[in-house]
Amino acid sequence: MNFEDLSFDPRIQTALKNKGYVRPSPIQEQAIPPALEGRDILGCAQTGTGKTCAFAVPILDRLIKIPPRSTDKQKIRALILTPTRELALQILESLEDYGKLLPLRSGLVMGGVSEFNQVKMLQKGVDILVATPGRFIDLVWRGHADPSFLEIFVLDEADRMLDMGFLPDIKRIIEMIPSTNRQTLFFSATMPPEIKKLTDTLLTDPVNVAVAPVSSTVDKIAQSIYLTDKADKLDLLVWLLKNHDNKMSHVLVFTRTKHGADKLCIKLRKSGIRSAAIHGDKSQGARVSALNDFKDGSCRVLVATDIAARGLDIDDITHVVNFELPNEPETYVHRIGRTGRAGRDGTAISFCDIDEKKYLRDIERVIKKQVPVIEEHPFPMTVFVESKPKQKQSRPRRPFQPRQGGGGNSGNRPHNNQGNSGTRQ
Ligand code: AMP
Repeated sequence: MNFEDLSFDPRIQTALKNKGYVRPSPIQEQAIPPALEGRDILGCAQTGTGKTCAFAVPILDRLIKIPPRSTDKQKIRALILTPTRELALQILESLEDYGKLLPLRSGLVMGGVSEFNQVKMLQKGVDILVATPGRFIDLVWRGHADPSFLEIFVLDEADRMLDMGFLPDIKRIIEMIPSTNRQTLFFSATMPPEIKKLTDTLLTDPVNVAVAPVSSTVDKIAQSIYLTDKADKLDLLVWLLKNHDNKMSHVLVFTRTKHGADKLCIKLRKSGIRSAAIHGDKSQGARVSALNDFKDGSCRVLVATDIAARGLDIDDITHVVNFELPNEPETYVHRIGRTGRAGRDGTAISFCDIDEKKYLRDIERVIKKQVPVIEEHPFPMTVFVESKPKQKQSRPRRPFQPRQGGGGNSGNRPHNNQGNSGTRQ
């Protein structure tokens, strides 16, 4: 099937052609035709499958064909909610590319940057708004954004929204948008019970589309494990990078914590390896500049936490390195899915110390295969006794205090600051 076989606006067809897209990816092939008919979609797909185009094309086509329900230009017609700022930026970029030849306006609101320009943009009016949840709610509460005439609602990366603690925000947003006469496109890489429940309330007779189930995406990625000690991981990484200079040109390294990402980045730089770190505590400017340096090759290694790396649209990552193994197998699958994108080969290397062996077992169970262990390297495991779990210090309990002011729906309520919550990411 080619894009020309799908009946959507010829200006979108031209824009896709200009991007070099000829054939729809499997998720696009499955989702675009029913979405063009106005059906709700429940898409089980992760980033890298082409799902942005799968929802962007039907949105653009519908908005251009159907006149708006309100003449008020401040009423948003389509809302795309996404968990991270990077993903939001990439979605906006794609919408602008695919809709380049259409008289539709797209905009972005997200936390972590000044809202001044976002408010100005909303005052001028946008048809399609890409948003992260917290900032969107704030702007609606303060009267800057109005989704009461919304025609299309996209919830992207729903499972990651759940991981990041956005579920209450999503529920609030669902109360703000029309409950009927709305098309909903829902995407999630996995379907934990809370997400399943959400789909039941949100979608009407949806068409289910699924591509690359979690365990099969990983098949085309060459995976390996280096058994080593915690204390030797940095030296092992430096050794690998220095010994595979040509091959390891775009390396994404995952660490568990923001502090760990910064520390590793500093140490790599000291070893003469061009590196940058991205995580939730970095300013938006610092994140964008690190990403650009990585994309244009002026920095070879990008050290990231899971949330910061989620949805990064970088096609030519040659290697993903799990500096620490994640304790959730699905996170492992998401991480290694950053490489081997757009049909390219990819390599995923994981360091595993004695305390992480249990995580390795869980991962192998989920991906249904054994990851080969590389025996020949200068930093083999020497510690074979698991460290004792740290004792949790019990904190004195605070007495319960009822909330002031009923529901507490004030515009100044503290809310999750787009991935900056908690300390782990
Ligand atoms: P996504 O999953 O939406 O982040 O897309 C992953 C990558 O695939 C992006 O770099 C897109 O530009 C690219 N892409 C999406 N659809 C197609 C297509 N039909 N043909 C070629 N590349 C595509």
